[in-house]
Amino acid sequence: MTEDIVADAFTAAGYTNFKRQVEVVYDGDVPIKAHLDFVFFSKAKKTLSVLEVKSPGKTPDTPYSSWEEQLYLQMGLLAKKYPDYTVDKGAILCLNLAYGEVAFFNGYTPDENIFSGLMDRARKLWSDYQGMKREEDIELATEPSPLCGFCNYISTCPRFEAEEVPELAELVGILDELQARQKELAKEIEYHKKGLLTIVSKRGPIKAGGCFLREVSRNRKVFNMDRLEAFLSENGCSPDEFKVNRPYSFLEMKKVV
Ligand code: SF4
Repeated sequence: MTEDIVADAFTAAGYTNFKRQVEVVYDGDVPIKAHLDFVFFSKAKKTLSVLEVKSPGKTPDTPYSSWEEQLYLQMGLLAKKYPDYTVDKGAILCLNLAYGEVAFFNGYTPDENIFSGLMDRARKLWSDYQGMKREEDIELATEPSPLCGFCNYISTCPRFEAEEVPELAELVGILDELQARQKELAKEIEYHKKGLLTIVSKRGPIKAGGCFLREVSRNRKVFNMDRLEAFLSENGCSPDEFKVNRPYSFLEMKKVV
């Protein structure tokens, strides 16, 4: 449904140079089939661009690494399938229809190192799978990801082995409960805010419950990424070259029982 909306929007805006659900099968040593949500093409310039559409329950501030890996794999596979074309860029469009939120993550360009790392991982998975089918004893490599929270093996996973500290159980329980309530509260707050905003945007400022409420609009300076990208590409650069890793710390807490 989300992809249909996006396709309709592109068509309404006059774009006809795209194909949907493009299937790309890797012609090599590991069976990989990718379905690309949108591929834009320019026959004149002989270029292809990939757009991946996501509709998660919660819009992230930054794209999940699994989304980025998927996009890099798609761009790499597309480049292999169409050697006469140049895959010039990729982007991720995140639409949250429930909350009316949109996030656009762009500036991705094919990266041979990342692609070959992903292909190596696919090869390893495929050969482990073949080994398991032959009933060999395979030691599977573990790799923490956001999916660990849903994994049935987390209680015995070596990546989550640590000293048990029973004295902190109560504190962790309190934090766990508070975080669960925080999520519920955030949803409720958002719901009521939207309702009140709809009212004040129709009626104008009001007073209620000892508060003054009105709709406020502000401007934020944002980079025009299309212009910036075009400028950088004219000067032989891409936005990726200006990305830096900035280390930060946070408390990770995952249910392991
Ligand atoms: S908990 Fe361990 S086995 Fe499960 S997904 Fe995470 S890393 Fe993999």
